[in-house]
Amino acid sequence: MRVLGIETTCDETSAAIVEREEGSGRVLSNVVLSQVKKHAAYGGVVPEIASRAHVDALDRIIQQALSEAGLTLDEMDGIAAAAGPGLIGGVIVGLTTAKALAFATGKPFLAVNHLEGHALTARLTDNVAFPYLLLLVSGGHSQLLAVKGVGQYQRLGTTIDDAIGEAFDKVAKLLGLDYPGGPEVERVALKGDPTRFSFPRPMVGRPQPDFSLAGLKTAVRIEAERIAPLTDKDVADLCASFQKAVIDMVLDRVRVAVQIFTSQHGTPKALVVAGGVAANQAMRRQLLHLADSLRVPLIAPPMDLCGDNGAMIAWAGAERLALGQHDGLGFAPRARWPLDMDAALPGARA
Ligand code: ATP
Ligand code: MG
Ligand code: FE
Repeated sequence: MRVLGIETTCDETSAAIVEREEGSGRVLSNVVLSQVKKHAAYGGVVPEIASRAHVDALDRIIQQALSEAGLTLDEMDGIAAAAGPGLIGGVIVGLTTAKALAFATGKPFLAVNHLEGHALTARLTDNVAFPYLLLLVSGGHSQLLAVKGVGQYQRLGTTIDDAIGEAFDKVAKLLGLDYPGGPEVERVALKGDPTRFSFPRPMVGRPQPDFSLAGLKTAVRIEAERIAPLTDKDVADLCASFQKAVIDMVLDRVRVAVQIFTSQHGTPKALVVAGGVAANQAMRRQLLHLADSLRVPLIAPPMDLCGDNGAMIAWAGAERLALGQHDGLGFAPRARWPLDMDAALPGARA
């Protein structure tokens, strides 16, 4: 089956077509238009600018996704859009467009949780079996989840303050680096000394696999103020030391989560990392070492599927459609939509 997926929850306008046959997936097209330049001057995403930009671009992006795949709307088996969580204006643009297309063509409509898109991408690229342990690290979320099936997510841990991507963005901003900060901090850290500053490793050793970033971010700010004015070398060392502290925390938290997962569900079929921060090469390398030592395969998405994209939405839609699920056109957009909500509240989707 083939599904068109639309993603507009933040600052990427994206449409994609994926095919799902006998459980495995193929991306037929995945057009991603980043709005980064429109928001860069403000150091973050401006919601009103984002929704207007989605309105301007989305029809064209959908056309392009169809023509790159060499397919028409009539050849789709379903139309999916991210219905949240995210910036509500953008969500409305993508969701309404998908509903209109589904209504006009009579195709099934799928309201996809954006986080479920990140969570299931590993099955699009690598055909991973359930249950697996998911490290979801993005701009808005830092969570460890047991993924037991499509729509079956058990949260093992979460951040008690900032998300990891958000912390990278804030540290970049306070060090005068460009937006978005994650890739910048990683790039600058390559030239830095990760041992020069001994930043705290928040949460390390705690029995619950939760995260905390606020104190670490503050520690970077205090150190930066103490040694100001900053040379390029100082900035590189601060970035490298910050990134090292984050990775140490993540590794410790994943170790704890693997233990909890294993005691409840047996050995995970894979350790899956997803979300924008999954693009961080240093983190991927360390996670690979850890996964190897635990004898669990590490599945990390290809770089173009780490950040927000339509293919992950199309794929999550295809996974649900294959189970005979779809949604009504009355499905309302959701600014907040925890991944484990359906599990916590049976029937919450209705
Ligand atoms: P969510 O998925 O939680 O709704 P989002 O969609 O805004 O949030 P993503 O687009 O998945 O988040 O990820 C963007 C985040 O990833 C940003 O915070 C960005 O700084 C971070 N990021 C991207 N590349 C890297 C990198 N190489 N290292 C660290 N962080 C990165
Ligand atoms: Mg983005
Ligand atoms: Fe995302």
